[in-house]
Amino acid sequence: DIRVRFAPSPTGLLHIGGLRTALYNYLFARRHGGTFILRIEDTDQARYVEEAEQDILESLAWAGLHPDEGPVVISEDEKSSDADAAGGKPRKISKIEYDAGEAGSEGSAVDGDQQSGKTTESTENGTRKANAQTEYKGTFGPYHQSKRRERYAEIARQLVDAGHAYYAFDTVGQIEKMRERLRTADNPVPKYDAQTRMEMRNSLTMDARQMQEMIEEGAEYVVRLKIPAGETIRFDDLVRGPVSFESDGLDDQVLLKADGLPTYHLANVVDDHEMAVSHVIRGEEWLSSAPKHILLYRYLGWEPPSMAHLPLIMSPSGGKLSKRKAEEEGIPVNVRDYRRERYERDAVVNFLALLGWSPGEDREEMTLEEMTSEFSLDRVGKSGAIFDFKKLLWFNEHYMRRRSDEELAGELEMIIQERGLPGAESDVKKLSPQQQALIEDKDFLTGMVSLLKERVSRLPEFLDAGRFFFEPPAEYDEKAVKKGWKEGTADRVARYRDRISALDSASFKAAELKSILSEVIEEEGVGFGKLMMPLRIAVTGSGSGPDLFGALELLGQEEVVRRLDTAID
Ligand code: GLU
Repeated sequence: DIRVRFAPSPTGLLHIGGLRTALYNYLFARRHGGTFILRIEDTDQARYVEEAEQDILESLAWAGLHPDEGPVVISEDEKSSDADAAGGKPRKISKIEYDAGEAGSEGSAVDGDQQSGKTTESTENGTRKANAQTEYKGTFGPYHQSKRRERYAEIARQLVDAGHAYYAFDTVGQIEKMRERLRTADNPVPKYDAQTRMEMRNSLTMDARQMQEMIEEGAEYVVRLKIPAGETIRFDDLVRGPVSFESDGLDDQVLLKADGLPTYHLANVVDDHEMAVSHVIRGEEWLSSAPKHILLYRYLGWEPPSMAHLPLIMSPSGGKLSKRKAEEEGIPVNVRDYRRERYERDAVVNFLALLGWSPGEDREEMTLEEMTSEFSLDRVGKSGAIFDFKKLLWFNEHYMRRRSDEELAGELEMIIQERGLPGAESDVKKLSPQQQALIEDKDFLTGMVSLLKERVSRLPEFLDAGRFFFEPPAEYDEKAVKKGWKEGTADRVARYRDRISALDSASFKAAELKSILSEVIEEEGVGFGKLMMPLRIAVTGSGSGPDLFGALELLGQEEVVRRLDTAID
């Protein structure tokens, strides 16, 4: 049975790299008819961020990566009706759906209220309510690590009993002293190693009675993994091939913290085992943790899962794509940014799939189904995957243009209803009645989309590029005016205006408007641009833009004539 998991820590908004990890897990599961698990690794209370989990769930749902097992969101309260936060799709997510069906995968084990630790026993259709927002699907739950703490403590005790782990009572201050003593230029952060063990207050250096006393007196302690000396730890990574680590380079990892909660390493290993995870697919930054995990599996007598460490995501300018770097380069890093800015879901998913994996033959555009049937870890590269943002925009453009004008117009209307029109004057409350009428006019918005579709690569850009459709230019582009508005221009524009204002409104059509322009320039004996450019400036404020005659038709006679009048003045 192929079982994989995406195991984010809710310490912040889901990173775009995290979504790639989720996607690869998802694809691998689907490819092999396996199970895709979502597990929330929320044992680090200090770094816990309340909204992070909701963000993870919504982001996965947005991307279409529905877990077969894990928490699912039910948000009945209207708080979450903020369509902006609900993601790129026009409908608001009130319940995140998952693929039901799959016999045997319903129903969950014990779970409880995360905040209070209360457990509930109710079991309706095999799905138990954990709290107002969370339900689980699957039989290996609970899928929050915070609800599994007894189990980790138990395993930690087992390791201590078997001599593979030990209680350590040293305080932060004592460890700092140890570090000071051992610190050298080559070794600025001395680890808690075999030698240190001898010097520190831990159960390996005190006799059983002493230790018992300390525990009874309520001394704080952690449980540390006893790393063996002088051993080479090897395993075969499905992406990187054979890898090896010297045990002497490893810290006696803390497994259980003073607050009784496990560290990532312990909880991760215990859960992967207990959730019967067959393949661990995660980012390369976790590779250095793998040898500790391998030791834990060995000491616990468990078979380790197969592991695949995905290549780092690199910035186009080199180096790891850190938050700061991404910011500098104008690359959004949080999935939420992509949702809010209405990126095309399929474009983002397609792009992420190729961020480290290649189907071969230079194939690029792929549906989720195609990716699913072709995905393999053999074709995941070892070297860093460059986050080519331009390419993402290309994908976005491409997928966006494949959608119908009507559909895009519908979404634009939603965006405007939500956040108004761009520009200082026009926030949503200040839409004029005319503007309000325009955005509710389906034909108008659809016409605008069809004129601008080839010129923008993201949905919200329609509003910038099409701003002149909603209000007359506040100013004229200086450069364009310098180039295109000369002596005699005003008279020529006036002549055109006279002709078009004489049209009856039914003939105010692009073709007609164009042939009138031809007539006027012929009469004046000048080139096309001598009138075309000034008209464009007068109507749009800019020297470039979509098909001018189409734009004039869409704006309508009255509005066009008014704008020409203003420009001539
Ligand atoms: N909780 C870890 C994270 O935040 C999981 C790493 C893993 O997949 O083992 O990415």
